[in-house]
Amino acid sequence: MRFEDQRKRLVQELIDYGIRDKTVLNAFETIPREKFVLPEYSAYAYRNQPLPIELNQTISQPLMIAIMLEHLELKSDDIVLEIGTGSGYQTALLASVVKEVCTIERLDTLSLKARNILKSLGFENIYYRIGDGSAGWQKAFPTYSEFSKIIVSAAASQVPEKLVNQLSDPGILVVPVGAHSYQTLLKITRSDGKIIETNHGGCTFVPLIINGQ
Ligand code: SAH
Repeated sequence: MRFEDQRKRLVQELIDYGIRDKTVLNAFETIPREKFVLPEYSAYAYRNQPLPIELNQTISQPLMIAIMLEHLELKSDDIVLEIGTGSGYQTALLASVVKEVCTIERLDTLSLKARNILKSLGFENIYYRIGDGSAGWQKAFPTYSEFSKIIVSAAASQVPEKLVNQLSDPGILVVPVGAHSYQTLLKITRSDGKIIETNHGGCTFVPLIINGQ
C-alpha cells in the first residue's frame, strides 16, 4: 500500500481511538512519518507503535503524540517549546499547525539529523537547540522567555520547575512524569495567575536525562 494510503489509515485509527481535534488529525494526514524512521523500519512507519531510532532513543507512538497534541489545544498563533526533538516527527506535526516551534535535543546527532529532514520538508518556523531541555529555552535564538505551549517527549521524575516558569498565562504544559518504566501524563494549565494540574493516564517514554543521569 502507498505511504499516502497508509497515512490515511493511521488517521482513521487515531479517530477510532477517540482523537477528535481536526487540527491534530490534519497534521497526521500531512506529515510523512516514513521520512523520520530508520530505513529498515520504513515498512512499519504507519503502524501505531513507537520505533527505535539512533542512540537507543525512539520515535514516539502516533496515538501518544496525538493525545499530547490534543491536550495542548494548539492554535495557529502558538509558540511552542518542545523538549526531546528525537526524530523530529512530532516537531513537524507541531510546526505544520503553529506559528513557531523551539525544540531542544540533548544528543547532537539526533538534532542535526532532524534538522536536515525538517529543512528538506521546507519548514522555516523551527528553531533548534542542543542541550538540556529541562532548563528551558536559554541562550538561544529567538530570545523567548515564555511559551504558550510546552511539550516534553521524555519522562521526567518530577515536573520540571524551570519549564513551568517558562509557561505564559494562559499556557499549557504536557509532560510524562513518573518512574523509568511507567509514567503518568500530566497537563499543567496556567490561567488567570493560577496553576492547575490534571492527570491523563499512563504512558511510557524514554527518560529525560538531567545532568547526564
Ligand atoms: N517526539 C520524539 C521523541 C524522541 S524520544 C520523536 O517522536 O521522535 C525523546 C528524546 O528526548 C530523545 O531523543 C532524547 O535524547 C531526548 N532527551 C532526553 N533528555 C533530554 C533533555 N534533558 N533535554 C533534551 N532532550 C532530551
